Amino acid sequence: LRMVSSQPLDSEPVSDEELRPHVLEGFIGQPRLKAQLQLFLDAARKREVPPDHILLAGPPGLGKTTLAMIVANELGVPIRVTSGPAIQHAGDLASILSSLDAGEVLFIDEIHRLPRPAEELLYIAMEDFRVDVMVGKGPGASSIPLTLPRFTVIGATTREGMLPSPLRARFGFTAHLDFYPHEELEKLIERSASVLGVELEEGAAHQLSLRSRGTPRIANRLLRRVRDWAIVHDLESVDVDAVTQALALYQIDSEGLDRLDIAVLQAICRNFNGGPVGLNNLSAMVGEESETVETVCEPYLVREGFLVRTPKGRVATAKAWRHLGLEPQDDVNKLF
Ligand code: ADP
Repeated sequence: LRMVSSQPLDSEPVSDEELRPHVLEGFIGQPRLKAQLQLFLDAARKREVPPDHILLAGPPGLGKTTLAMIVANELGVPIRVTSGPAIQHAGDLASILSSLDAGEVLFIDEIHRLPRPAEELLYIAMEDFRVDVMVGKGPGASSIPLTLPRFTVIGATTREGMLPSPLRARFGFTAHLDFYPHEELEKLIERSASVLGVELEEGAAHQLSLRSRGTPRIANRLLRRVRDWAIVHDLESVDVDAVTQALALYQIDSEGLDRLDIAVLQAICRNFNGGPVGLNNLSAMVGEESETVETVCEPYLVREGFLVRTPKGRVATAKAWRHLGLEPQDDVNKLF
């Protein structure tokens, strides 16, 4: 079989590494953001200083980590990777900061989840390139100020609103990543297919792009599932039919909504009569963390017009009722 790579089925890398582009050129879509970032990097290179700190905001899977790695690669500097939840004490962050080399990029994923003392230490370090290191314990402890070389922090967050403003103010460049239009996802799927050695027939990439929730990570994941389907069914290439059948098996529906999306809409319509319902009640009903419902599920449902956020809570739109095969309530029809 031509399209089948020599890997056994269960050897799929858990990471997104193999499909990550390494240069800005290879980053698909988001043209305005790319142009801004290009200018920003070119200026830093010309001035021969590390660029200002960068904040990348947006839902998961849209390319924040990828961009951070591209920035380091384009600047030809090493990148250190950590995350808000991985840093439990300010001291953990102090030791990372004090070991950074000049010009290095420090990538902090989920930066909104840094503990408060670490956050305070970070913005001083970002502003003044200095960190106070505690020496000793108890009453005899003292803090020694340590000067750091210039470095660049790249923070990523799915919840920009949760960043305290002093921290947010330390970033010289903030980029908001948005869901990708179908045409861009189609390009991305074609690129990934060629990296994975999967042959796509006319229309297959398009069909996949419609089902990917505007999200590169999901597009890549679905492509892998469709590849599995083709391998098992001894297909030489993937056609539209294979895409449709494979995705039906994985419960991805015609709008690209997955099980959790559907569970959320079902809960609002069936259990809460269409809403309004508060985030906590809704999350409890579908058995998910409220942060997951809020950052993973809702942004796409809102963007696609299935859900609105009102001051009283979440409300399902007429589109949502119809998508579930239900008759919209009368007052929903009046609202939308
Ligand atoms: P995030 O950090 O925002 O959660 P990632 O950067 O980890 O997302 O991206 C998830 C996957 O999607 C990676 O495999 C990455 O290579 C791919 N990806 C994301 N954005 C793009 C893009 N614009 N072009 C090509 N691949 C992308």
